Amino acid sequence: MKPSVAALVVTGAMLAAVCQPLGASSLTQAARPAPQAVASDLTQLPLTGEVLQETGIADTLADLVDDDDIGDDIVGEAGAASSTSSASRHYGFLSRQGNSRAPVARWNPCTSIGYRVNPTGGGSGATAEVKVAAARLRASTGLPLVYRGTTRVVPGKGTAAYPNDTQIVIAWSKPGVTRYLPRARQGQYAVAGYGGGSWSTGYDAKDRKWGRFVRGYVVLNGTYHFAHGFGAGPRYGWQGTRGQLIMHELGHAVGLDHTSDRSQIMYPTMTRKRAVYGAGDRTGLRYLGRANGCLYLTPR
Ligand SMILES: [Zn+2]
Repeated sequence: MKPSVAALVVTGAMLAAVCQPLGASSLTQAARPAPQAVASDLTQLPLTGEVLQETGIADTLADLVDDDDIGDDIVGEAGAASSTSSASRHYGFLSRQGNSRAPVARWNPCTSIGYRVNPTGGGSGATAEVKVAAARLRASTGLPLVYRGTTRVVPGKGTAAYPNDTQIVIAWSKPGVTRYLPRARQGQYAVAGYGGGSWSTGYDAKDRKWGRFVRGYVVLNGTYHFAHGFGAGPRYGWQGTRGQLIMHELGHAVGLDHTSDRSQIMYPTMTRKRAVYGAGDRTGLRYLGRANGCLYLTPR
């Protein structure tokens, strides 16, 4: 299903998008933060003056908590839907921002994609869960994600550059510390997680134009405590798990948008289901991965 992205704001060459809620349980969505400065990406971008675009989605707590699910047992739903072919249609691409003709942004699958974890504030076992989620992402995309260790970097905080071997950072933080987790305005929910990335133009072996990710960002709000692991999660209280949230935000960081099918990990609301990528998630992830071949900086 196409995600509901309604607003496009063009600032120079940068795109900003405001994501609309997908369902009744999605009450608010924060605007996407300002684009990332280009300078920190120069080590990876030999093309002088190339402008990066950035996209991402800030998932507010309203999006992530599905009141309808509280007390309901929907565990069977995810597994059943994942095995049906109709569910495989449910995915979208983040870079398109509502424009179906825009090139799809993806990672170059032909070079290692290093990721680091800043587990401070993430609770026990945070790094181990990121590794599990990344392994599942790697299995579904074929992208060569490689764990490089921990880091103190928090995406969107200060000017600290990523280490040279690192393209994606997954960090926990608090609202107000990083621009990806803005403080909640009065009466609004805080952002519980953010996932996205920056990309420039890339070309495949047939000179088709794509977006080519150079940076990925995942920031999780450490003041919210979800159940650990990848199981169905609690029957009462916050639905879903930390594992489900990590997999969801990592999905954004490799270019997936939301989908309206609740059995998918990219459904914008945390629901009570096992944290495994669904059929739609996997269709989208396959497209974003090795299946579409290497990306180059210039046409062949
Ligand atoms: Zn999301």
